[in-house]
Amino acid sequence: MSKNYRAELVGAFGNPIDENPTGVMEEAAFAAKGLNFRYLTVKVNREDLEAAMNGVRAFQMKGINLTIPHKVRVLPYLDELSPAAEIIGAVNMVVNRGGKLWGDNTDGKGFLISLENEGVTVRDKKVVILGAGGAAKAIGVECALAGAKKITVVNRSRERGEDLAELIRDRTEAESEYVEWDSAYSVPRDTDILVNATSIGLYPDVNSKPDVVYDTITDGMTVSDVVFNDPNTLFLQEAARRGAHTVNGLGMLVNQGALNFTLWTGEEAPAEVMMDTLKKEFGL
Ligand code: NDP
Repeated sequence: MSKNYRAELVGAFGNPIDENPTGVMEEAAFAAKGLNFRYLTVKVNREDLEAAMNGVRAFQMKGINLTIPHKVRVLPYLDELSPAAEIIGAVNMVVNRGGKLWGDNTDGKGFLISLENEGVTVRDKKVVILGAGGAAKAIGVECALAGAKKITVVNRSRERGEDLAELIRDRTEAESEYVEWDSAYSVPRDTDILVNATSIGLYPDVNSKPDVVYDTITDGMTVSDVVFNDPNTLFLQEAARRGAHTVNGLGMLVNQGALNFTLWTGEEAPAEVMMDTLKKEFGL
């Protein structure tokens, strides 16, 4: 029988990228499924993105993850976009379909799966999102596409916040409004799901928490955080103290990685292996 010494290649392009843990999780998943795939974590500068994307085609890579600063700037180098990526205007992953590059944004879908795994669905729910950056946009658009009734965008900078609320109103069936965040935010009583989609609480800023009137969080709410390192953020600790159902950012990270795994390999992802690997990596 002839031998195959060639592995299928996927990976990530970004800068900074050295501390991105995705490769460890994906490689553990490839090993668990006995797949001859390798995940390359590659530092790519802003001005070298076009060359790098030509490299995806030249090396016949199966696909690639994009992270800071490439998620939006990669769009001109792609042949096709998923409907959600087209609305969000950013991709975090690309699949190479025989030389045609197809982009998707799996961050928001990963978030939805992390809620579903906790028995929480967004259909007809009122969702409040703190932040209006890349993560907030992906989460807001996917919640709206999944049938959320209303998305409230709470953001420090007015323009970004208003743009996201307008995008959701224009491109989905959901209601959406922007609320300026210039003092401690009181969470409306009828909120079903509250999400911190800012980078507040991200390592090494672990002693910070979003400026919220925490006593307005009730035990009827689901409260989630996108920050995954450390996942037990002060924000979630405060919410848990008020009896809320908390969902940390590890699930979003694992589930977007699991979706990417399936899009690249065509196989079901071993999500538990991926979660265990990440927890070990983070010393949890
Ligand atoms: P962006 O830079 O695109 O957006 C950051 C957001 O945070 C903006 O809305 C910004 O507000 C807000 N913000 C930052 N600092 C403050 C502050 N001190 N007070 C108020 N608002 C603040 O970042 P991303 O959206 O790409 O990432 C956000 C977080 O999501 C990061 O921690 C990232 O690690 C995490 N993430 C997690 C994922 C997961 O799988 N769990 C996936 C992707 C991201 P303004 O507009 O006013 O500047």
